[in-house]
Amino acid sequence: MHHFRYVRGRLYCEGVSVESLTKQHGSPLYIYSAKTLTDNFNRLHTALSPLNHLICFAMKSNSNLGVMRTLADLGGGFDTVSGGEIQRVIAAGGNPRKCVFAGVGKTEDEIVFALRKGIYCFNVESEPELERINRIAGKLKKIAPVAIRVNPNVDAKTHKKITTGTYDNKFGIAFEKIAGVYARAAKLKHIRLRGLQMHIGSQLTQVKPFADAVRKVAPLAAKLKTKHNIEFLSIGGGIGIIYEDALASGQATWWERKENRDLLTPEKYAETLVPLLQPLGLKVLLEPGRFISGNAGILVSRVEYVKRTGKKYFAIVDAAMNDLIRPAFYESFHEIVPVKQTKNRPIATDVVGGICETGDTFCKDRPIPRVEEGDLVAMLSAGAYGFVMAGTYNTRPMPTEVLVNGKKSAVVRKRQKVKDIWAGEATAPWQK
Ligand SMILES: *Cc1c(COP(=O)(O)O)cnc(C)c1O
Repeated sequence: MHHFRYVRGRLYCEGVSVESLTKQHGSPLYIYSAKTLTDNFNRLHTALSPLNHLICFAMKSNSNLGVMRTLADLGGGFDTVSGGEIQRVIAAGGNPRKCVFAGVGKTEDEIVFALRKGIYCFNVESEPELERINRIAGKLKKIAPVAIRVNPNVDAKTHKKITTGTYDNKFGIAFEKIAGVYARAAKLKHIRLRGLQMHIGSQLTQVKPFADAVRKVAPLAAKLKTKHNIEFLSIGGGIGIIYEDALASGQATWWERKENRDLLTPEKYAETLVPLLQPLGLKVLLEPGRFISGNAGILVSRVEYVKRTGKKYFAIVDAAMNDLIRPAFYESFHEIVPVKQTKNRPIATDVVGGICETGDTFCKDRPIPRVEEGDLVAMLSAGAYGFVMAGTYNTRPMPTEVLVNGKKSAVVRKRQKVKDIWAGEATAPWQK
């Protein structure tokens, strides 16, 4: 579900015209819909209402302060992966006590900071990390709340760069070893075993891998509850969204379309998982990122040039892979639509950025209504892993971000000034 639609032939985000936003703020421009964020959060929250649960938004998918504040105000917590992200939670007005801290490489400074802020839990990925947290907590005279990430060895059957729940990757501790690790951890004086955690991958569009993983892990969680008095099980994030036909048939959500009926919805997710989780009597944590933010954002870009070469039709736009790297990085698909609807016939188009990399391509030979120089196009479903992965390659400033709520809009991040790109750099003293 999202709130981007055409109104009299013009693309709108909620009650605000996309064109009017680019007139004010230029392009490339990220636009986020607060109502979409809210609806997605609430929809999951409602579906899971039979469970005592907490939704910790995976802020690595979109950590803009305005976006985070929207979710904090709904009562959400945050799944963080660095000390910087915990600082961001505080800057956004979120509550560190509703934060979990994940990641395989937590540094000493990050652990100190997280302990001082009283986070809800560390999601621990190895025994050396457990020992480090215990040692640091001891020094600070604190007890560190900990969940250990179990790798259930379930194949999420998603893209190879975003599958995390098999023994081929660096995440978590093998299922068979978990009981032993908890037994050893229980002897550490400054550790409190608070939960058990897993996350099998991202962009899952079927419920089965989730169900397989929960079925496999539930008996283990029950055992750990009895033995070590854990209070929660985190089932991670990973709920997928549809990227194709994101705008199709106006507001019909993709899962309402017949061909997508067997795909994942929050209701189907809950319907399958709640009966497996409820008997455990544990609090359930979720860490959705993309599901909440993905369809809540678009990237708007202007066509700088149209270039025909032989059979090809290139639309060279003012956004590039530094603004949105997903197509180059994961070969991912973003629907691309004109901001102003036209009667132009679709023509096989390569929409590309201006960077000297062949990978700087948003789509290849895709039939889209013929665009011309000066036209605006919107790349949809760019709210997750979009701006957060942006960089300044080619000395291109970070784009502007705008948050829309009804008829209101606000710049939630100003366009970076070119000079700020090299702020902090200097020539060496011997260069005079
Ligand atoms: C990335 C990540 C998430 C969020 O994944 P989404 O696919 O965006 O829902 C949740 N938990 C962990 C541990 C992650 O690494």
